[in-house]
Amino acid sequence: MSKTTYNYVNGEWIESESGDTIEVENPANPNEAVGRYQSSSATDATAAVEAAAAAADDWASTPGPERGRILRAAGTLLEERKDELTDVLVAEEGKAHAEAGGEVQRAIDIFHYFAGKAADLGGTMKSPSAPNQNLYTRTEPVGVAALITPWNYPIAIPAWKLAPALATGNAVVLKPASAAPGVAIELARALDEAGLPDGVLNVVTGSGSAVGTEFIEHDAVDAVSFTGSSEVGEMVYDRATDAGKRVQTELGGKNPTVVAASADPAEAADIVAGGGFGTTGQSCTACSRAIVHEDVYDEFVAELVDRAESIDVGPGADHEMGPQVSESELESTLDYIEIAENEGATLAAGGNTPDGEAVETGYFVEPTVFTDVDSEMRIAQEEVFGPVVAVIKVSDFDEGLHVANDVHYGLSASIVTDDHTEANRFIDEVEAGVVKVNDKTTGLELHVPFGGFKRSSSETWREQGDEGLEFYTIEKTVYDS
Ligand code: NAP
Repeated sequence: MSKTTYNYVNGEWIESESGDTIEVENPANPNEAVGRYQSSSATDATAAVEAAAAAADDWASTPGPERGRILRAAGTLLEERKDELTDVLVAEEGKAHAEAGGEVQRAIDIFHYFAGKAADLGGTMKSPSAPNQNLYTRTEPVGVAALITPWNYPIAIPAWKLAPALATGNAVVLKPASAAPGVAIELARALDEAGLPDGVLNVVTGSGSAVGTEFIEHDAVDAVSFTGSSEVGEMVYDRATDAGKRVQTELGGKNPTVVAASADPAEAADIVAGGGFGTTGQSCTACSRAIVHEDVYDEFVAELVDRAESIDVGPGADHEMGPQVSESELESTLDYIEIAENEGATLAAGGNTPDGEAVETGYFVEPTVFTDVDSEMRIAQEEVFGPVVAVIKVSDFDEGLHVANDVHYGLSASIVTDDHTEANRFIDEVEAGVVKVNDKTTGLELHVPFGGFKRSSSETWREQGDEGLEFYTIEKTVYDS
């Protein structure tokens, strides 16, 4: 029997007034219960927002270096618990052990990075407009920030919202994804032990419709930062802007890697396989389209099929690729595989659960490659969110660029080429928030901004790096004569 975890509100661990719970199962072994969390109500969410609102002013006036000290202490506690957190992440989300360890390390690094930023916030001194005047800007927190996060990076994404929000002096309410809330709650535990004052952070688990809606619409919430699917995110954006909030949404992707005529097919296959099959394809920046010049198409496809078929799929530390997070995500991927076959694409690798096993043995799916894909097909247009790569043949660079841009998304894009002019044109003309040359679409650095174009992002704000602080702050201009 798994243990029951409570909400964290006003510095205390409390049960939901609903009396209901969410059971989290191990996606590699659905018969194993690995966590039980509160299925909270709107009333629980209201209490969390009220606690944050009450704590906001004192936290805003806490000196930046002190806020940084608490974040740094929490980062150190997380570091001490890295193995334990990695195990929770593997058990709840199913990520391969090495990938899960990397994600936990990223969360730790984010806390240390933004701890440093907390001491450096401030404004800019300007030339005075009159004698004996101080004219300057000062940076203030927005107030109460509501953070709503997805399951696919269940510790890194809460960390990359939480750390800049707290560093800049905001109080926070956080709703982690119901599929894998355990590691986000451990962030609260570390911050609590590090001395974060009561009410500055409140974590409430439960459904998007109950907890999420209350967070988005409550009058005391000033800013909403959401990461998740475009369908939910666009609805959240409309509702939160209607309610007068500052809103940031980071959403889905349909990320291309263009393989140019000059590319080495083996290197290109490594890059596409890394981007497409890493984290079981459950990454917003996963490569799901390989757009390949006809001169290297056959050789590239043979290499990619070889990569797909040699990936070791299975649970825990001994395998390269873990399961999908849930039965519904697995079913969605299998549905897309069927749709692609019905649309006339050719299944070149994978396409099933390993050895055709039933889902009761774990939500595993084979790394899958489709060839003969047309850019109009649904497999080439819609986010699959599983380890499925659609290969599209093109006859020149311009057609490749056109196909790369011919989707509603624009998160990450890469090109494999030896031609510097082509690389520069790709950087100029591709519609994506992250562009890579001779590298996979996945993999982000925490000190540079991240966000998308088109349906991948609300575009106005970026996350991570110095730019990641802007969403949580507002400038005031002071004339002190
Ligand atoms: P999701 O279904 O949109 O859920 C994201 C979060 O929103 C969850 O906490 C969810 O709660 C909550 N939610 C659901 N309905 C809501 C509502 N009506 N109001 C408020 N909140 C609501 O996305 P997901 O399946 O967790 O994550 C996968 C998606 O995230 C993919 O599309 C992926 O591309 C995207 N993603 C984007 C980025 C990026 O930075 N661009 C990064 C990672 C993932 P429940 O869990 O309780 O349903």
